[in-house]
Amino acid sequence: MPIKKLLIANRGEIALRIHRACHEMGIKTVAVHSTADADAMHVRLADETVCIGPPAATDSYLNIPNIISAAEVVHADAIHPGYGFLSENAQFAEIVELHNIVWVGPKPEHIRTMGDKIEAKRTAAKLGLPLVPGSPGPLESIAEAQAMAREIGYPVLIKAASGGGGRGMKVVPSEDQLESLMSQAASEARAAFGDDTVYMEKYLSDPRHIEFQVFGDGEGNAIHLGERDCSLQRRHQKVLEEAPSPVITPEERERMGEIVRNAMAEMGYRGAGTIEFLYENGEFYFIEMNTRLQVEHPVTEMISGIDLVREQIRVAQGDGLSCKQEDIRLHGHAIECRINAEDPQTFAPSPGLVKNYVAPGGMHVRVDSGLYTGYRVPPYYDSMIGKLIVYGTTRERCIMRLRRALEEFVVEGMKTTVPLHQAIVRDPEFLAGDYTIKWLERWLESEDRQASGEQPPRA
Ligand code: ADP
Repeated sequence: MPIKKLLIANRGEIALRIHRACHEMGIKTVAVHSTADADAMHVRLADETVCIGPPAATDSYLNIPNIISAAEVVHADAIHPGYGFLSENAQFAEIVELHNIVWVGPKPEHIRTMGDKIEAKRTAAKLGLPLVPGSPGPLESIAEAQAMAREIGYPVLIKAASGGGGRGMKVVPSEDQLESLMSQAASEARAAFGDDTVYMEKYLSDPRHIEFQVFGDGEGNAIHLGERDCSLQRRHQKVLEEAPSPVITPEERERMGEIVRNAMAEMGYRGAGTIEFLYENGEFYFIEMNTRLQVEHPVTEMISGIDLVREQIRVAQGDGLSCKQEDIRLHGHAIECRINAEDPQTFAPSPGLVKNYVAPGGMHVRVDSGLYTGYRVPPYYDSMIGKLIVYGTTRERCIMRLRRALEEFVVEGMKTTVPLHQAIVRDPEFLAGDYTIKWLERWLESEDRQASGEQPPRA
């Protein structure tokens, strides 16, 4: 059944992104928004709008009864959850489907399985994905943990089964610290997720973060669209992403791509997904799967020419995938910079009134942002205010174009991370593609040192 009217259960740039895909497909949009977002760009552009609550996300963007009521009032026949908020909430997906509304997302049982990290690893192992060595299930006792750590070798990492955002994670350098760090991880996990289940992994000392974009039609057909390199992170948060990875060879891409594609086909996975790996010394290690669209999806769109939101909508309305694996050609290079309303040195949030906004343009430059002059960035949500995505036929050309685009970017009235990106894209190690998940934090420390002429305090 073709979707006629789609409710966007999100805000910010991703809500605008979904609106755009819908209008290009002739689908009407409904923007649901909190009172703090009445002036948002996507709310202005949507065909209909419904206010679903006060600023706090728990009362609005996470308020399931209000979102479902809004969908019923406007007779929306589909809901797209974007990323974050309710996008990986299996119960929400079930409720949407129970109301005979099309859920633009994976099957609820797959969201649930992949949302539990231990269950996700078990499933991944069954599907033939390579895992980080570690405990096969929850750690039940300190004796079990000691035995496991001796087997895999220190340092080890204790992780929370319900984890997210790096919380409840502890690196254990040696056996004498195992007991205390394990109980710290468990209590952190209980406080953050209401679940103190923890498990153990070998701690990889300096890996890259490589993730594969996958897509399934829910009926046993699946494709992969290559990898993204998201190693440039600060506090486990991605800052800049690129596709393809500067270090993955065509043979590795082909081999891993086939592994993830077969895994998704075997699962009967439906919609967009991302399979995340750590990559060290030529080996891939599965860490988790995200059952949704990712922030960094545009870099894959740039090198594949495939509109991933359009593809999600196609699959949700039963049209299947628009292409087969053999039709997919990845070409050139794309880089995304996440632009946050933050001080580029201290990373303190900097919301407020946008006094002047001029986005870069020109060939192969894409800006996904709801910003406009006169808009007030509300203080209640994530500080990301936009994404700059640039394409080039080679990585070198892409970086030259990115430098040029960053020069043109004007956001007055608040601090942004544009200057941070301007510095990163001039760094020789970045230019050489020579960086891992620890690189940016080390680089930020050395920048501080240069600026202050002394050793900075460690966070
Ligand atoms: P979360 O869901 O809390 O973000 P992930 O499992 O996705 O947790 O891991 C987040 C980040 O933590 C990874 O991108 C990587 O930087 C680091 N990390 C996770 N597992 C390991 C590991 N076994 N060894 C080293 N670093 C790890």
